[in-house]
Amino acid sequence: MNLVFLGPPGAGKGTMATRVAEHFTIPHISTGDIFRANIKGQTELGKKVKAILDAGDLVPDELTIELVRDRLTRKDAARGFILDGFPRTIPQADALAEFAAVDRALNFVLPDEEVIKRLSGRRVHPGSGRTYHVLFNPPESEGKDDLTGEDLVIRPDDQEDAIRNRLQVYKQQTEPLIAYYDDRSLLVDIDSAPAPDAVFRQVLKVLS
Ligand code: ADP
Ligand code: AMP
Repeated sequence: MNLVFLGPPGAGKGTMATRVAEHFTIPHISTGDIFRANIKGQTELGKKVKAILDAGDLVPDELTIELVRDRLTRKDAARGFILDGFPRTIPQADALAEFAAVDRALNFVLPDEEVIKRLSGRRVHPGSGRTYHVLFNPPESEGKDDLTGEDLVIRPDDQEDAIRNRLQVYKQQTEPLIAYYDDRSLLVDIDSAPAPDAVFRQVLKVLS
């Protein structure tokens, strides 16, 4: 099962991808997580993309496409995968179509005002990418990851200026992918407004 998760930043794609990946035992491939791991590890790629992520702009297509093309050749992706945050532009979607067949594109729908609430309360565990929210999905112990007890952090691009830019970038460059996948009869809308358990039930219904 080859899945693409679409939707604005903060819609809950990563949260659902973690659950779906566990449920179907397929990898959750988040380009954002890959970039952030490279930034943390101070790799060449990390140094190249840090300022782009901090500002909430998009990493150039060629670089991102090669990263995903390479990731999908790994053995764990042979039985299927979830792409979370890729494709984000039409050229990325065209490139993906050349090296993998997408079975479904799930479009997580959430109004802007909810997106802003979710992003401004988001906390992440940098080691695993696990995501919490101070109000909607708090960790068991404040500021600490449930599994490791390690510190949670605020993503640099979850500051107000970067949030505003990311929403604009989403509308200009990524939103056209909704029509792109709809035209190919692959699109399914998911109402992302309810609590995580209810969103997950919708997703399972669509995928069963
Ligand atoms: P995305 O991957 O689309 O950017 P995330 O999965 O990181 O979004 O979710 C953004 C924030 O919203 C996180 O703080 C997460 O804990 C919270 N969240 C995710 N799904 C829900 C939901 N259904 N209801 C309330 N909060 C949610
Ligand atoms: P995300 O974790 O999906 O919110 O992504 C965080 C940031 O990583 C984005 O704001 C971009 O700077 C970068 N990024 C992630 N995926 C892509 C992509 N498919 N194309 C370009 N940039 C990306």
